[in-house]
Amino acid sequence: MAAVTKDADEWVDGFLFVGNKPILDFLNTRPVLAQCPTELLPDFPALERWLIASGIMSSAKMKRLVQSWRHSPEAALFYKDVIAFRERLREAVLRLESGSAPSDEFIQEVNRGLQQNPLATVLRKREGRIVRVQIFDPEQPTDLWKLIFDGAADLLSEPEIDRIRQCEKCVVHFFDTSKKGSRRWCSMNICGNKLKVAAYQRRKRESESAR
Ligand SMILES: [Zn+2]
Repeated sequence: MAAVTKDADEWVDGFLFVGNKPILDFLNTRPVLAQCPTELLPDFPALERWLIASGIMSSAKMKRLVQSWRHSPEAALFYKDVIAFRERLREAVLRLESGSAPSDEFIQEVNRGLQQNPLATVLRKREGRIVRVQIFDPEQPTDLWKLIFDGAADLLSEPEIDRIRQCEKCVVHFFDTSKKGSRRWCSMNICGNKLKVAAYQRRKRESESAR
């Protein structure tokens, strides 16, 4: 999936962006809020908002395009298929995180997807260097599979696989890009503080009872 430059905001338009990889942010569109799993993408218009919030479809041209799909049967079908794929991806990521390999069936599905929805790349000159960049120029909803399968393949073949982790406190997944590789929480604001406060209260209770 195309790398997207984002600002420091963790929440954009009601969606969480802490995964460091767009495919993980996509996986995180079903977090547990108020004790129960919450589907943040209940329909295609919600997916449309996520695509814009994520920066994937952020130019005026892209926004108009994705909005033009809103009531199309193709978009409805794509929505249904991509949400089902997200849950199969979740299973694969949970397996990766527990140290086992994703199922052969899932790898085959991603391979088929990559072959049927190739994402083009080209070379560009940037600051005196040549870089390889992805070309994503969608025309129809199913073109989004190019990013989905590219992102899934990138995740499954990640060399630093132990940096793909689930938050210690919640269901959110992230790719740890910290220097030390010691990130434990989805976010300091969301779960880090809760754990720190809990540890502080425990220590306080212990010191009070020791008195
Ligand atoms: Zn968390």
